[in-house]
Amino acid sequence: MDVLRDLPEATVLREPSDLEPFRRDESHVQGPRPLAVVRPHGPAALRELVRRAKAEGFGLVPRGAGTGKAGGCVPTERSVVVDLSAWPGSLQVSAQDLSLQAPASASLRDVKAAAEAEGFFYPPDPNSWESCALGGTLATNAGGPNACKYGMTRNWVLAVEALLEDGEIHTFGIPSVKANAGPNLTQLLVGSEGIFGLILGATLRLMPKPREFTTLLLPTRHWADLLDLPGRLCAAGYLPSAFEFFDPAVLAELRAHGPEAARRLPGEALAILEFDDRGCGSETFLEGLLDLLGPLTEGLEMATDERQRQDIWAVRRLTSAFLKERHPRKVSEDIVVPRSRLKDFFQRLEQLDIPSVSYGHLGDGNLHVNLLAAGETAPEELERQLYDLFRLALDLGGTLSGEHGIGLAKREAFLALSHPGHIQVLRALKRAMDPCGIFNPGKVL
Ligand SMILES: Cc1cc2nc3c(=O)[nH]c(=O)nc-3n(C[C@H](O)[C@H](O)[C@H](O)COP(=O)(O)OP(=O)(O)OC[C@H]3O[C@@H](n4cnc5c(N)ncnc54)[C@H](O)[C@@H]3O)c2cc1C
Repeated sequence: MDVLRDLPEATVLREPSDLEPFRRDESHVQGPRPLAVVRPHGPAALRELVRRAKAEGFGLVPRGAGTGKAGGCVPTERSVVVDLSAWPGSLQVSAQDLSLQAPASASLRDVKAAAEAEGFFYPPDPNSWESCALGGTLATNAGGPNACKYGMTRNWVLAVEALLEDGEIHTFGIPSVKANAGPNLTQLLVGSEGIFGLILGATLRLMPKPREFTTLLLPTRHWADLLDLPGRLCAAGYLPSAFEFFDPAVLAELRAHGPEAARRLPGEALAILEFDDRGCGSETFLEGLLDLLGPLTEGLEMATDERQRQDIWAVRRLTSAFLKERHPRKVSEDIVVPRSRLKDFFQRLEQLDIPSVSYGHLGDGNLHVNLLAAGETAPEELERQLYDLFRLALDLGGTLSGEHGIGLAKREAFLALSHPGHIQVLRALKRAMDPCGIFNPGKVL
C-alpha cells in the first residue's frame, strides 16, 4: 500500500536509488532506507502527512541539508524523510526591528549574506555555514567559532513557525528582544532536533556589523601553554569573538597532507584568536593583549587586511571535511568542559587510553575529539572509549555535546549518563507535544 498516494503540494521520491542518499548525514551512523522522501511545498502536504503518519503509524524525519553530525536526520524503521529544501518563502530584513525573516529551506549562507547586504550581522557560524540549511541550524541550535562571544543559534531567534502534531502551522514569538508572556515556546523548539515538530521558518535577531577585527595566528611549541589562555583572557576582560585550536596531531596532519595553505602553518600546536570589539585594533588594546599572551607572542602572526584574515579562517573551515576525507570511518565527538577546566581535561584524557586527536572551539571549551581509528576498533572497546570520554566531560562539569546534538549517534550515552530527572521531564514534554510519537522517532529520547 502506498501511504503517500496523491499527497497534495509535495514531491515524493520512492525509487530506491533516490532514497539511498537519505540514509546518512555527516555522522558515522546510517539508517534503513526510508519509506519515501517527501518534499512539501505547501501546508496541505504537511497537514496530510501528519494525518497519515498517525493513521498508518509511520514516523516523520525532518531533514535540512543533511550536514548534521549526530545522525538526527537519519531515518529509523518505518519512517518518511521530510526534506524541507523546497519549503517556500523569501528572506526579508527589517532594519528597524533589527530582524530577518527566513524560511527553514534558506541556506545559512544566504541568511548571513542577506543580513550583511543591509549592514547587519547574524553571528551563528557553524563551519558548515556554506552548505547547511537554516532549519537544520535552528533544530540543532548550531554553534560555531563565534559562539565564544555571541552564544549559539538560540540567542538569535526571536520567533519560529512550526508544524505541530495537530497538523497546523503555529507561530511562537514576536520580532522583539522583549517578550515575556509566559514560558518561551520558541526556545523549546530551537534545539529540539525535530522531536517536537517541524520548524518551517523563523524571525532572527540581527546586530550591527562589526567594523574592526584583530585576527591572530598563535603558534606554540608547548601546546599545554594554550590551555589556560581562554580563561586568562576572559578573566582579564578580553572576550574573543572566536578562539579556535588544532592540537599537535591535527596540525601535523594538516601540514603533511592538507592543501597548500595548510602546509605553511607554523608551530607544534596552533590557535586562531579573533576579536571584533570596537577599538580592538588600537594600540592600547593590542598592548594589553600582547602583555597577556606573554611568551605566546613568539611567532605570532596578525592579519593586516581582510584577505589575510580570510586566509587564516579558510584553513580552520576545511579541517572537519579534510579529516573526514582522510579517515572516513572516524567518530567525531563534541564534548564541552568549562574553559577553566581545559587543562584538567587534557591531562586526564591522556590517562584514559583513548587514541584521539582534537581541534575546535577552545575559547568556549567545546572540543572536537576525533577517534580516527574508530572504524578499526572493536565495538565494545569503542563504546568504552566514548563512555570514558563523556564521563570525563561530565565529571568536569561539562556535557556530551556542545553543538551537534544527540540525534541517533549519542542517544544511548545521553540516556545512560544523564540525570534520570532530566530524562523524565523531557519524556513528559515529548508525550505532551507529540502523543503519537510521529516526529523524529528514536532520536534523542
Ligand atoms: C564540515 C562540517 C562542519 C560543521 N561545523 C559545525 C559547527 O561548527 N557548529 C555546529 O553547530 N555544527 C557544525 N556542523 C554540523 C551541522 O552542519 C549543523 O548541525 C547544522 O546545523 C545542520 O544543518 P542541516 O540543515 O544540515 O541539518 P540536518 O543534518 O538535515 O538535520 C539536523 C537535525 O535537525 C533536524 N531538522 C533539520 N531541519 C529541521 C526542521 N526544519 N525542523 C525540525 N527539525 C529539523 C533533523 O531531523 C536533525 O535532527 C558541521 C558539519 C559539517 C559537515
